[in-house]
Amino acid sequence: MKALIIGTGLGAMTTAMRLASRGYHVEMVEKYHQPGGRLNQLKKDGFTFDLGPTFFSMTYEFDEFIKDVGLKQMPFTFRELDVLYTVNFRGEDKRYMIYRDLDRLAKEFEEVEPNFREKMEKFLAGAARFFHDTEYLVLKRNYDSLFDYLLTLLRVPIRHSPKLLRSVWSEMERHFESREVKEIFSLVAFFLGATPFDTPAIYTILSYTELVHDGYHNVVGGMYKIVEGLKKELDKAGVVMHFNTEIVDYRYEGKKLTAMVDQNGKTWEADLFVVNADAAWFRHKIFKRKKFSEPKMDKLKWTLAPFTMYLGLDTKLKDTPLHNYFLGDNFKEYSGKIFKNAIKLDQPYYYVNVVSKSDPESAPEGCESLFILCPVPDMRNKPDWSDRDQVAQNIINDVSDRIGVDLRKHIISQTVMTPVEWGEAFNLYKGSGLGLGHDLDQIGGFRPKNYDEVYGNVFYVGASTLPGTGLPMAVISSKLVVERITKKYGSLHS
Ligand SMILES: Cc1cc2nc3c(=O)[nH]c(=O)nc-3n(C[C@H](O)[C@H](O)[C@H](O)COP(=O)(O)OP(=O)(O)OC[C@H]3O[C@@H](n4cnc5c(N)ncnc54)[C@H](O)[C@@H]3O)c2cc1C
Repeated sequence: MKALIIGTGLGAMTTAMRLASRGYHVEMVEKYHQPGGRLNQLKKDGFTFDLGPTFFSMTYEFDEFIKDVGLKQMPFTFRELDVLYTVNFRGEDKRYMIYRDLDRLAKEFEEVEPNFREKMEKFLAGAARFFHDTEYLVLKRNYDSLFDYLLTLLRVPIRHSPKLLRSVWSEMERHFESREVKEIFSLVAFFLGATPFDTPAIYTILSYTELVHDGYHNVVGGMYKIVEGLKKELDKAGVVMHFNTEIVDYRYEGKKLTAMVDQNGKTWEADLFVVNADAAWFRHKIFKRKKFSEPKMDKLKWTLAPFTMYLGLDTKLKDTPLHNYFLGDNFKEYSGKIFKNAIKLDQPYYYVNVVSKSDPESAPEGCESLFILCPVPDMRNKPDWSDRDQVAQNIINDVSDRIGVDLRKHIISQTVMTPVEWGEAFNLYKGSGLGLGHDLDQIGGFRPKNYDEVYGNVFYVGASTLPGTGLPMAVISSKLVVERITKKYGSLHS
């Protein structure tokens, strides 16, 4: 039985391994010139950068995957981060160090939040209960209908229902008093590509996964080692990838898809198809479904769009740690306006990763490689990015002031990707970086399904289908779609 996978993102690669290990003949087509999707790599001027993801949690999802496909060991090495990240507020000298160790963490906040430890323990205990009550019941499973999903929700212990009604921010307000603590620990909403004011409180589980359950990890040698490791295993399993191949059309007979068609008119036949391109975008752009028309797509909630910069410096940044958030002094106003393009990008909020701190080989001797991510409006709200140089300059000026090193004098390599380039590179709808948002009406049974509504042999995997965005979710997504496929076609090993 032949499966054609459209895309080579993490969801696709893990699906391909799972299918190959079950006896399927798998082939993959990818529009980009190399595998990985958003988990990609840029090499330039002697520097190596990870294009998007820089850290993640829930590493045990990779353990489950490795076991499932029968590998003896992980083809990459995870490294737990000691300081999860640092946070600086504009106009303040202090840099908050976010540790997993609650005693060290409490010390960071002793001046602004009395009884921090007790309050944090109480907050985390609530998040932990929700996580463990829902992880298997709701998150890691398929739904055959909306009814099935709603029925499942009824089995969630009733004590959690207020979390469905509150936002991350109001949950913070219930537990903490200081502006600093509330803002820092509601940053998890930004990791989901939204703001704490419009993200349901159920996602405070991310504070539990980062601080208690699994911490944060990156990968020895850079995040792209995940892709290189998986690619090697896929090569061994006989899975062939075709790059610079974009699916633009399809052929069908009745309720069965017979082939995908690429930009050169070549047809790609298979018995079944797994779409790793964004699950809503593919239904919109390729299948041209009415439910996914442009006006309907525009009305959906999409996650933040990325404005990313990759800087090679001819100096070392001695006092800047690996992972850093630089926030302003107008958190509520900024959060409310930024995605609507209602605030100027002259004093932006952004994240800085000094890649070469953890992987020195990513920069030449005496140099540093820097990744900067600034969440910005997507192209529904800001289609014109002709001000890209100005935005980049604003960020460079701001970082320079705040880390005390004039980057302008040290940049020897500079690459910028606006939502336009992100959208074009990976077919992300209007440049949205993390895919569909995680509002209550866009998760679980409400999210685009991982099986097609029309063609019985078409399935979906990745950020905009079940269960959601982020690297561990992509791995879970592959587990769920393969469960669906094998339920229908079986495991092909005799
Ligand atoms: C800037 C940025 C930072 C991020 N940081 C983190 C982080 O720190 N931690 C974390 O866990 N997550 C992070 N994420 C999210 C994470 O990258 C994604 O959730 C995850 O990589 C998505 O994987 P996916 O399987 O959905 O596939 P994708 O990565 O979306 O891959 C889909 C692939 O399909 C290809 N494709 C699309 N259309 C077609 C077509 N028509 N024909 C052929 N191929 C096609 C695309 O080119 C792409 O390669 C970040 C994302 C971004 C953008």
